[in-house]
Amino acid sequence: MNRGNREAIQVCIRVRPLLKPYEDEEIWCTDSNSNSIYTIGANQSDSSPFRDKEIKLRYSEGQGPQSFTYDHVYGPEFTSQQIYQQISKPIVQRVLNGFNGTVFMYGQTTSGKTYTMLGTPDLPGILPCSIKDIFQSIAKDADREYSVWVSYLEIYNEHINDLLVPGSNNLKIKDDPKQGVLIQNLKHQQVWTFDQVILLMNYGEEHRSYRETSIHEHSSRSHTIFKLYIESIARGDRGDGRIRFGCLNLVDLAGSERLNEFDIRNQSQLGETGHINKSLFTLAHVINKLAEGKTQHIPYRDSKLTRILSFALGGNSLTAIVCTVSPAAMNFQQTISTLRFASRAKIVQNAPHLNEILNEIATVNEYKAEIIRLKEELSQINEEKLSLQIAYNKLERELENARKEVESHREVHKDAINEHGKDKQKIEKLEKTLEMQLRELNSHKSEFSEKYQKLLDRFQEERKYRARLENELTEHKQALAETINSEQGTLRYLNKLILDAGGTPVEIPNPSSTYQASPQESNFLESLTLQMDQDFIPEPKIHDEWTSQSNKIIENYKQQLANLQSEYHDKIQNLYYHLSSETKKSPAKSIPESPDSPQSPYNKDLFSSIKINFDHIIEEYLANPSNSPDLADVIVSKLKDYRDLLGDQIEGKYDDAIVKLEEFFKEKISTSNRVEISQLTDHHSELLKKLRDQYENMMEKLEQNYLQTLQLFEQYFLENDEYQTKIY
Ligand code: ADP
Ligand code: MG
Repeated sequence: MNRGNREAIQVCIRVRPLLKPYEDEEIWCTDSNSNSIYTIGANQSDSSPFRDKEIKLRYSEGQGPQSFTYDHVYGPEFTSQQIYQQISKPIVQRVLNGFNGTVFMYGQTTSGKTYTMLGTPDLPGILPCSIKDIFQSIAKDADREYSVWVSYLEIYNEHINDLLVPGSNNLKIKDDPKQGVLIQNLKHQQVWTFDQVILLMNYGEEHRSYRETSIHEHSSRSHTIFKLYIESIARGDRGDGRIRFGCLNLVDLAGSERLNEFDIRNQSQLGETGHINKSLFTLAHVINKLAEGKTQHIPYRDSKLTRILSFALGGNSLTAIVCTVSPAAMNFQQTISTLRFASRAKIVQNAPHLNEILNEIATVNEYKAEIIRLKEELSQINEEKLSLQIAYNKLERELENARKEVESHREVHKDAINEHGKDKQKIEKLEKTLEMQLRELNSHKSEFSEKYQKLLDRFQEERKYRARLENELTEHKQALAETINSEQGTLRYLNKLILDAGGTPVEIPNPSSTYQASPQESNFLESLTLQMDQDFIPEPKIHDEWTSQSNKIIENYKQQLANLQSEYHDKIQNLYYHLSSETKKSPAKSIPESPDSPQSPYNKDLFSSIKINFDHIIEEYLANPSNSPDLADVIVSKLKDYRDLLGDQIEGKYDDAIVKLEEFFKEKISTSNRVEISQLTDHHSELLKKLRDQYENMMEKLEQNYLQTLQLFEQYFLENDEYQTKIY
């Protein structure tokens, strides 16, 4: 349903002439230019002090001058036809075009409502003018085909009476979902001409029942609704099959004067008095509500009139209200009341719209067209459906492929997850192992640090010990050198004696080369010390290297020490050997240790050398007269001295060697472990024993040599007569 634009109810005022002689002074004036109506007191130009005073006294005491403005205000000079032209004609024309239209006549009894609506044969009212206009317009319109129906009803004491059917009274109202409010059994008479309608109108008027009241009284309490239904459809092929329909309601209301006597807000008194027309009362109430802008709870259903004409009040209708008033001072209150109603009514907004439906053929055609359109649409949809189906199938295939792919990916993913799980386990295992190894390493680290520190300490001690040994060695060397020098001196002296005796001097041994650490060893020791001091990193590699190197050094050192010891031992042996060999120079029975050696001084020639020496000694004795006269004494004494000297020297060397050995072993023991100490102790005792043996052996040999030498000398002396002669 189309919703039209909002259009306000058109409101106009019609002031009739004064009805003389019934009515007194005329107090209302109109101005059609400004569309206003006012009391003569309100317009100074029309007033005189005398009249003002009189009017005030008689009619409008306490209310002051009044002035109202409307869409149109018509004074007594205007005809109904003129009012029709301005007010109703535009509505009638639009009704012909499918709109609803309503024209109300509102006002007190005798204000001219019926006069304005129906008029007289000479001066037709709005109704005949409308009908005339409608049929003229229909006649003029060649494009459309019109159908007109008429109904005519009266609402009297809230009863709906069909004026076209005498006796058809108290008709019921029903709500039709499609057509809205309908009056059951109301006659709708189709009409084709103006005269037909006028006849019907007159017929209805004639058949109004006035049994209970006088005509005047009845008329003042009844409402009449003259309704024209107009349908039209475009003629021939030009039409679109659409039917326009509209209805024109021409409403002549009951007199409003009794309403004025009553306060419309005081509804409780309604019905009690019996004076108040319910439909009129509800109309005023509805207008008030609508004027207040309320759209809900409009009491249309409170009266028959408002229920039947609800569409005309705020609904789908072009509506105009002609308010008729008397200009007389005596009707001042009623006029004022009507004007106030009019003022409220002009605020009300309606929403008229075009009423149009399709006729059957048009409907069929429209359906056909719709079917064709739908068929086209359907085939289009089918095509689309087909292409969609194809696309869908394609998509489904793709989806299936994607599904398979996803499935295979899922499998791969599953495998990967398994692998990942395994890897994770491996990693966890590795991590645990690593953690354990780390813990172990840390413990090793601390262990190693301790060990390393110990080794470092040990190494420092070894260094110190080595330094001490070196010092010791140097001292020994010096002592040895001194001993050797002294021995060499002794040997030189012995050699002199031997030479003097004509023997071959013994070879004096060279002092042994002193021990020196190899440059490589020194460098390594220095670098190692430096490294340990500056860049200590306790790593297994360094530790191993250090251990092996230090072990090597210790071994080397031990070897060197052993060498030194053996060298020292050899030197001591040598020393004793030389000492013993010197004492064995006499040709006696001394047995050389290595007789086959060509360098050995203990050869057989020694005896002859010694013999020569004996000669030399004797010669020396003879040459010196200060000597004792006993040659034997001299020789013995000399040999004795020599023996004692050698004995002292051997003893001194022996003691010296014992002390040195003692010191050396003590020192060695202090830095050795138990096994080493035990070995050293054994070695020490062995050496001491050996030394003691040597010493005793040497002393014994010395004694033997001395005795042998004495015998040899005696023998030699006895064998040489020459010497005996010389001496004795
Ligand atoms: P209502 O229908 O309001 O009760 P009527 O239309 O019957 O009043 O009018 C009452 C009297 O006044 C009638 O005799 C009528 O001819 C007369 N009358 C009403 N309006 C006019 C007018 N504009 N010009 C001349 N006479 C009028
Ligand atoms: Mg009337």
